[in-house]
Amino acid sequence: MHQYKVISFYKYVKIEDPEVLMKGHLNWCLENGLKGKVYLAKEGISGSIFGDDELTRKYKNYLKGYKIFEDIWFKETPTDSVAFSKMHVRVKEEIVNSGLRSTKLEHTAPKLTPEQLLKFYEDKKDFVIVDARNWYESKIGKFKNAITPQITHFREWPKVVESLSEYKDKTIVTYCTGGIRCEKASAYMREQGFKDVYQIDGGILNYILQFPDTYWEGGMFVFDDRRVFEPNTNAELMFTANCHFCGKPTSYHINCHNIDCDKIIVSCHDCKVEKEYCCSDECRTSKNKRKVYHG
Ligand SMILES: [Zn+2]
Ligand SMILES: [Zn+2]
Repeated sequence: MHQYKVISFYKYVKIEDPEVLMKGHLNWCLENGLKGKVYLAKEGISGSIFGDDELTRKYKNYLKGYKIFEDIWFKETPTDSVAFSKMHVRVKEEIVNSGLRSTKLEHTAPKLTPEQLLKFYEDKKDFVIVDARNWYESKIGKFKNAITPQITHFREWPKVVESLSEYKDKTIVTYCTGGIRCEKASAYMREQGFKDVYQIDGGILNYILQFPDTYWEGGMFVFDDRRVFEPNTNAELMFTANCHFCGKPTSYHINCHNIDCDKIIVSCHDCKVEKEYCCSDECRTSKNKRKVYHG
């Protein structure tokens, strides 16, 4: 049994006054000792909450108490590590920074269930699977045969779609962590003339909990203190990346601790410690280094 869980959720829904909601939400979370990250915008809500069974259940009931969130879907991943140690609730322009301001959510692609995706693979269906995440996420893990765009921000999605134009008549499947990016990513593709686009319902999170050790290769990058979630038990499917320094297979990566560099590098635990969390000797000896607390 795992001690804790992380619950992830999002919903695109019109919120009249996100500022007011933010204040009430933050107060409630602080009073109840919750940890996590929640974003609110006029277009909806997204977030991840960390805690034990009781605390996360309490949060779910609280959020579902709002009429607009009563049907929200919580994706749960069990964990033994602390995913968040603080509580943030913030108001943003978009719940995921996409820059796709003119993309209409009603153009979003139909959803493929994990079972349906599994069947695509087993039937060897002719389809193109595209990772809608960033390079440092797909480097750690991806779906078998997926196209993994080398982007560092979701705002670069239009560039990715342009590079895929030869597949306009093919069956396309897009995926991201929990599905939130694909709502817009898939809508944008259809607006650009892609004829048969699907998105995975509930994203990778939903797939790997149901079908680990199948077509997901490697770990899953998570935007919290854990950094990586390992869904597979089959060693052949565990790693897709190698340590930047020694080449050993690993799923872990760090931000270079030279604040002026901040580059993301894949590094095993031993090398990370040896290199003092830095990408190069130059960064290691720089003045502007982030402090590391060894527990
Ligand atoms: Zn190493
Ligand atoms: Zn560096």
